Amino acid sequence: MENLKLKNYYDLIIVGSGPAGLGAAFKMAENSDSSILLIEKKKISSGGLRNDCKQNYTYPVGFPLEHWKKENADVLLEEVATHLKPKMETRLNIDKYIKRAEKLGVDILAIDQAHVGTDKSSKLINGLIKQLKTLGVDVALETEVKELVSDKKEMILESGEIIAFDNIILGPGRADYDWMQEQMNKLGVEYSYNIVDIGIRVEMKEENYSIVKDYYDPKILFPNKVRTFCTNSGCANIVREKYKGYYSVNGHSLSKEKKANNLVNFAMLKTIRLTEPVVSGQQFGKILGEMVMQLSGGSVIMQRVGDFRLGQRSKKETFNNDLYDFKPTLSNAVAADLSLSMPAKILRDIWSALKKLDSIVPGVLHPSTILYYPEIKTYSNKPQFVNDNFMVKDGYYIIGDGAGTSRGITAAWASGIRAVNGILSK
Ligand SMILES: Cc1cc2nc3c(=O)[nH]c(=O)nc-3n(C[C@H](O)[C@H](O)[C@H](O)COP(=O)(O)OP(=O)(O)OC[C@H]3O[C@@H](n4cnc5c(N)ncnc54)[C@H](O)[C@@H]3O)c2cc1C
Repeated sequence: MENLKLKNYYDLIIVGSGPAGLGAAFKMAENSDSSILLIEKKKISSGGLRNDCKQNYTYPVGFPLEHWKKENADVLLEEVATHLKPKMETRLNIDKYIKRAEKLGVDILAIDQAHVGTDKSSKLINGLIKQLKTLGVDVALETEVKELVSDKKEMILESGEIIAFDNIILGPGRADYDWMQEQMNKLGVEYSYNIVDIGIRVEMKEENYSIVKDYYDPKILFPNKVRTFCTNSGCANIVREKYKGYYSVNGHSLSKEKKANNLVNFAMLKTIRLTEPVVSGQQFGKILGEMVMQLSGGSVIMQRVGDFRLGQRSKKETFNNDLYDFKPTLSNAVAADLSLSMPAKILRDIWSALKKLDSIVPGVLHPSTILYYPEIKTYSNKPQFVNDNFMVKDGYYIIGDGAGTSRGITAAWASGIRAVNGILSK
């Protein structure tokens, strides 16, 4: 932990150094003389800024429509770019794909996007933190906020230290949704949490998904709320992320300077909105994740498309046979049977979307393609905001993916700016 002596009062405290927290910190530091404390429990901001770091600069990618209109998002995206300084990827020859997609009732969004890569992201983050310190922000890394005090504008750190504030912005991200719920219960803030994205991660040889040569991360929207998400190529790998009680798969890639492995991966996700009587999307995701833990002996599962089509489980002994001519990048996934683990409605809609995709970019459903399960995105608690600046109570703001105000790096940053705009206009 850094040797930083914290004050016992700040005009603004920001919890979480993800893009939402960083966006808020820069906006406040560059536009006021307020005393600011940015607190992060880890050594370095986690999430997408650290992993892969693909930045989308086209509305509505990452911007939940219930909170964002194009005109607000576009203005703030320009501001985000002044800090993240994106080098945009090129996008070529996609008209033929768009035409094929239209015939199938599928939308391909044309997105301005920059990619940093997991090997380069810590340099970017450390540079941003250094700039904040130069602007006079106190940055406390490896410092965890234990809780807020319900009846006073104070918070307590894990160390027991109590710090008072005039305004606080909470941007704890998705992973700490339960911590956020406890704080909202304390503050008397109402919230709902009924949405979850469930899906698979698809991995294949680049020659079988050649669209990535023209469009780095194709955003494709299928019927029944299924979409592609987070495509990785170049030196692309699949990873297992630990959540409370289960693993979710995810994908990332390294920068262009690294040697390519000629594989591509992307997620195919279906958004589920639960209604009474089961309303917790987070709980639903956890139950499905736990089921896979049981079936796989404590991991995630994978199946070759060839086996899936034949209705037979994939097996370790035959996973790399004959047509199955590349090895999975996630070596500790267990060869198994997707249809034994996924709810029928989700599997049906995702398989139907994959078949459409195979007509748009022929090759995706080559027998060697691997389907990993589960990829679970437990979105946010959705607090009841009292104004347009994500305030939930006088002096308290909740932003970023953990509050459902964003679904990606640039929108999270923009939601931080928007909260501070509310404070500055007071
Ligand atoms: C592996 C991975 C890869 C991703 N790749 C991309 C991508 O390429 N492009 C993209 O747009 N999106 C990506 N995402 C999504 C992206 O990470 C999120 O949309 C974005 O980071 C949300 O920002 P945030 O600031 O709301 O939350 P986060 O980035 O999650 O940041 C929240 C921070 O708060 C800290 N925190 C939580 N509780 C406390 C506490 N009590 N005290 C102190 N600190 C606390 C956490 O440690 C964390 O660093 C990815 C996500 C993951 C998990």
